[in-house]
Amino acid sequence: MAIHPFPIGIPAEVTLNDVRSRAKVLLKSIEAGAASELERIEPYFDDPSSLTLQQTQLVIAREYGFSSWRKLKAFLEVRDELHAFQRQEARDLMSVDPGGVGGKTGRLTRQLAAEMGRECEQDGGRCSFCFSSQYKVAKLIVGTGYYICGDCVELCLNLINEGSARPAADGDDDLRCSFCSKLTTQIVNLVSATGARICNECLELCVEIISEGPGSNGDNPRPPASSSEVIGMMNPGVKRVIGILAIAVVVLGFLLMVWGGSAV
Ligand SMILES: [Zn+2]
Ligand SMILES: [Zn+2]
Repeated sequence: MAIHPFPIGIPAEVTLNDVRSRAKVLLKSIEAGAASELERIEPYFDDPSSLTLQQTQLVIAREYGFSSWRKLKAFLEVRDELHAFQRQEARDLMSVDPGGVGGKTGRLTRQLAAEMGRECEQDGGRCSFCFSSQYKVAKLIVGTGYYICGDCVELCLNLINEGSARPAADGDDDLRCSFCSKLTTQIVNLVSATGARICNECLELCVEIISEGPGSNGDNPRPPASSSEVIGMMNPGVKRVIGILAIAVVVLGFLLMVWGGSAV
């Protein structure tokens, strides 16, 4: 079992102001001709002499594993909001049960997840990984209370393929995939984000769902709201049960037909 932190290396202490100033510093260093910083630009832009702040912002976003600056910004804004909510919850618990918060981390996480689920209901669905709204993504796959967008499915698969797993820590055995509820002891790879976790099997199922679904528009990163698609994710187990039931109904129908025919 391997656990992959999501997204690539964005430490909890890095704030929106930090990434903003990093983009400015990078632009200034390039303008000053710092050769070491040119290497960071090269994979994305050919001509460093005409670089803009938007472009260095994109470089910073890509370095953290996001496809655009807009996504990095949205991620940090929602993450900070959630952290503020979590801190408030911790304060509330402290006032009820002083000193009891340490053992309640699991409960806090569940409350946070429930809260996120409610937010999703309110604004029509939000990816539990990058926090993009359903209106900003081409595809959004819905699990039980959790969501994942097409871009994050791709990002998660890349994380697994790159093998960027962190060493297992105490308590990892209790982690579950948010989509199929399997424990880490039952799965090979788990991508773990602030808002949700997803296993390799569910990711494969998502890829299947996305490739089967109509209206795939992979070239268009910002589709209009009308073209975004929210797809329900069916647990493979449920799918199998439905398949067996369908066969049972056909067989029963056939038997009834035969029985009906012989009774006449
Ligand atoms: Zn996403
Ligand atoms: Zn799963």
